[in-house]
Amino acid sequence: MSRPLILVTNDDGILAPGLAALAEAMQDLGEVLVCAPETERSGSSHAITLHSHLRTDAIKPGWYRVNGTPVDCVYLGALHLCERRPDLVVSGVNPGYNLGSDVFYSGTVGGAAEGFIRGAAALAISVHARESPRVTLPIVRTLARLLLTQPQRSLLNVNVPWLSERRPGVAPEAIAEGMPLHVTRLGARPYIEQVERRQDPRGQAYYWIGGPPHDIGDNEGEDTWAVKHGHISVTPLVLDITAPDLAPWQAMLEHVSVDPARAAET
Ligand code: MN
Repeated sequence: MSRPLILVTNDDGILAPGLAALAEAMQDLGEVLVCAPETERSGSSHAITLHSHLRTDAIKPGWYRVNGTPVDCVYLGALHLCERRPDLVVSGVNPGYNLGSDVFYSGTVGGAAEGFIRGAAALAISVHARESPRVTLPIVRTLARLLLTQPQRSLLNVNVPWLSERRPGVAPEAIAEGMPLHVTRLGARPYIEQVERRQDPRGQAYYWIGGPPHDIGDNEGEDTWAVKHGHISVTPLVLDITAPDLAPWQAMLEHVSVDPARAAET
């Protein structure tokens, strides 16, 4: 392969330390282009901007900011800013896990998934909220090298636990060296359901939704279990969320045809 083209994005904005760490990790693995939202867009999932304009400008050579979501950045980056389609899209390093059902909300995962849809191998990387993004450097380098040489294209969701807690005094970049990688399934990550109603200074109601996470599950082989036990979690994702076994629904609908629009008058 000629020198691979790597597109780097995130959902925390162009100034986030995790983005700089990720760009640094990719530096000598290929030609690197960074394209990230100008402001934080965490929780933007796979949102794309179709009804307002997008602007982009270079803040330094090879670094572009966009007034949009991670998906906007990858779309614009892959189709317009890159001279050809990227071979690899990496998204992160997100400060805070993206486990289980988080992948539906995560802009970090959204950016990686968009890269996968645009034909690249892709990797989303998140780390425990109190950990330095720099601990992920050797992990993303290892995985990026692999993804760039594998025949099959992957979309990986990677979560890295709070490793420095167990190895104080070791340089962040060196902490993960030699660790194994655990292939996991998505687990369950429940959050406390919360709607906070408040009143603005003009007397109108406003709301703040979403509570903190519960304790995460402990089922062996799941991403939540892996990080809970100090393992690096690698979850391969597929974008087809169709139920794996259609049989129960085929049975349910087998003899069903659509009802009349109105109930028969009696
Ligand atoms: Mn984020």
